[in-house]
Amino acid sequence: MKINCLSCGFKVDLDDMYDDFEGPIKCLCGALLEVRIEEGMLKAIKMAEPLSRTAPKSKRMEGAATT
Ligand SMILES: [Zn+2]
Repeated sequence: MKINCLSCGFKVDLDDMYDDFEGPIKCLCGALLEVRIEEGMLKAIKMAEPLSRTAPKSKRMEGAATT
């Protein structure tokens, strides 16, 4: 099956092992798509926050600001 990237519109080709899958799919453009597939049907898709090792600029870990 193919999944349309929400960021660039590229059709990401997924093989049969993704017929029941829930998790992130990475597009060629680098966008991370969070998908849920059941019985070969796309049930949900959304952009996922890309994992980054750099410190977030605006987000703050709740409860982590002790100083
Ligand atoms: Zn893309």
